[in-house]
Amino acid sequence: MSERLLPIFQESYRELRPRAPIPELAVQFFAFANINNTIRLREGRLLVRLSDLLEGAPDSVLHAIAHILLAKMYRKPIERQHAARYRRYVSSHHISQKAHLLRQMRGRKRIDTAEGRIYNLESIFDQLNTRFFHGLMARPQMTWSRDHARNSLGHYDPAHNAIVVSRIFDHPRVPRCAVDYILYHEMLHLKHPVRLRGSRRCVHSAEFQAEEKLFPDLERAKRFLQLL
Ligand SMILES: [Zn+2]
Repeated sequence: MSERLLPIFQESYRELRPRAPIPELAVQFFAFANINNTIRLREGRLLVRLSDLLEGAPDSVLHAIAHILLAKMYRKPIERQHAARYRRYVSSHHISQKAHLLRQMRGRKRIDTAEGRIYNLESIFDQLNTRFFHGLMARPQMTWSRDHARNSLGHYDPAHNAIVVSRIFDHPRVPRCAVDYILYHEMLHLKHPVRLRGSRRCVHSAEFQAEEKLFPDLERAKRFLQLL
């Protein structure tokens, strides 16, 4: 537990919920594969992990991320100035270079390109990230598959931290909501890693499925994908 983080989170909690008692907090820096921050509530304890890329960040930035995570946890609106401060810091030259280096160190699969003829997967990822994930999800490598395989819509490859989407969807007749849905599904795989239940792998957990149902165009997207 970082001694520096605790008071920042406590203060942020006070601002957000002035009258509620502060729960027990465990806040630590964590070596994620990329810039990532998570918050969970377990048996009354708030467990927070911040990317170790934020370790050198000034207090104001840590305060901003504390606000964002706590607001997300308690479904409060995220204040603009905090969102902007955090975004500015993470996109700063220094941090993006570090993140880039980290990605390179993980060893790289031969990745084609995120830029398709019709759709750019990186910009779709960024839009979904803002719309559904508070902009908190670190973008993995994004690429259209090299072939036009029909057997898989898309997949997330944890070893290379890459989302691969079948190139058949990069087509003018494919509605945007179908591509959004495929990416949204893969983003949920990032958020809900595969768990072991006994010896069985639980790929689409109950939480995963509940969150997938929140996708607004779900019916339309699925109908399109079934017709294919
Ligand atoms: Zn899946």
